[in-house]
Amino acid sequence: MNVTIIGGGVSGLFSAYYLQQAGHTVRLIERNHFADSCSHGNAGMIVPSHIIPLAQPGMIAKGMRWMLKSTSPFYVKPRLSWELMRWGYLFWQHSTDEHVERAIPVLRDLSLLSKKLYQDLAASAEVDFGWHERGLLMLYQTHDNEHEMAEEARIANRAGIDAQVLSCAGVQALEPDVSVTVRGAVYYPGDAHINPNKLIQELVGYLRKKGVDIVEGEDVVRFETQGKAIQQVITNKGAYKTDAVVVAAGAWSPELAKLLGLSLSLQGGKGYSFMQSDLPANIRVPAIMLEARATATPIGNSLRFAGTLEVAGTDMRVNINRVRGISEAINRYYPELPVKLPAAESVWRGLRPCSPDGIPYIGPVHRFENLVLATGHGMMGVSLGPATGKLVAEALSGQTASLDLAPFNPERFS
Ligand SMILES: Cc1cc2nc3c(=O)[nH]c(=O)nc-3n(C[C@H](O)[C@H](O)[C@H](O)COP(=O)(O)OP(=O)(O)OC[C@H]3O[C@@H](n4cnc5c(N)ncnc54)[C@H](O)[C@@H]3O)c2cc1C
Repeated sequence: MNVTIIGGGVSGLFSAYYLQQAGHTVRLIERNHFADSCSHGNAGMIVPSHIIPLAQPGMIAKGMRWMLKSTSPFYVKPRLSWELMRWGYLFWQHSTDEHVERAIPVLRDLSLLSKKLYQDLAASAEVDFGWHERGLLMLYQTHDNEHEMAEEARIANRAGIDAQVLSCAGVQALEPDVSVTVRGAVYYPGDAHINPNKLIQELVGYLRKKGVDIVEGEDVVRFETQGKAIQQVITNKGAYKTDAVVVAAGAWSPELAKLLGLSLSLQGGKGYSFMQSDLPANIRVPAIMLEARATATPIGNSLRFAGTLEVAGTDMRVNINRVRGISEAINRYYPELPVKLPAAESVWRGLRPCSPDGIPYIGPVHRFENLVLATGHGMMGVSLGPATGKLVAEALSGQTASLDLAPFNPERFS
């Protein structure tokens, strides 16, 4: 088949990777340049540990408290928007223990499949993306977070994900080069990390070599359909005949879905990152600083800090106050690291494509016989990229799916 993929982030690129391997002729259309997507400057953590969705009991109350502070890690920009209200209602509806119970095996199995595929890719040496299996530290300083993390560690261990509660000395033993000021941490040894910038660059290069038609700088604006089939994808510069379409357009996927008469509940969750280079010493294990909801990932000799979730539509402006919130938090955990507030121009920002229930949208829809969606991965799109691509390729090749697609049904809220 001739397959057209819309979106050159990690979901689109891994869809291209597995579709090309399955023998299809693949074209990928990206309206910007590959360095612009959310898949580029993120924290690069591969997190099978993250089995509890964002929609969980207590999250709305926590979010309300954070909303009051300009440097806090969470914000919803008030807007008169039906889509935002619907998303908020669905988020609230899913913030229950029952939903968390149902979501745990779904997210775990998707994550573990993805990690296995990353391991295979790293072993194949086709693409070099800085794969390291050093685990993840969830650092905490307060009694409340210690309690909450111990409970999450119990849940993870019950689900078969190794989680170890460490004292401050235990954390320090994993970080011999940098001092850490914490009450303790939960250590997830099965997590990993990558260099996301390198992953995107290498995947694009690899796909080009394999004959995938990579179309850069064209914006998909329309589709031509007949009955249940999409026949052409129209961009601002041309038209492409196609046998099948994959929509992997991140936070912009609802706009494309709308062009096809579909309603997709999804909000962009803006986050920021910046790099600190030339450090006298670096951390070894990626970490989440829980009270600050900020992350630290060693990438080569540099360290990337990331954080914040601002539900602000597709507004890409940098709010330096929130970046200040991240930068000021770091020395509370790593007092010796020389961290400076970066200039706004050097701050990277990306829009996480957030579904309201924290489960991605992967799979076909009833209305069209040749359309597959691959979006809604929220905070875990990089982790889940390879598994998403594989499921997309299986769906379009008529192969048995590696995982049951029912929980990922893009029409589950329709
Ligand atoms: C601060 C931050 C830290 C993060 N850290 C992690 C992490 O540690 N681990 C993890 O797993 N995830 C992380 N994430 C989340 C992860 O980055 C996203 O989930 C993931 O990148 C989403 O990938 P995507 O391919 O679905 O979307 P995107 O990367 O946004 O790609 C979609 C692409 O579609 C293109 N597009 C849109 N509309 C059109 C159109 N009409 N025509 C043509 N092209 C179009 C866009 O230009 C864009 O390039 C983080 C995110 C942020 C913001």
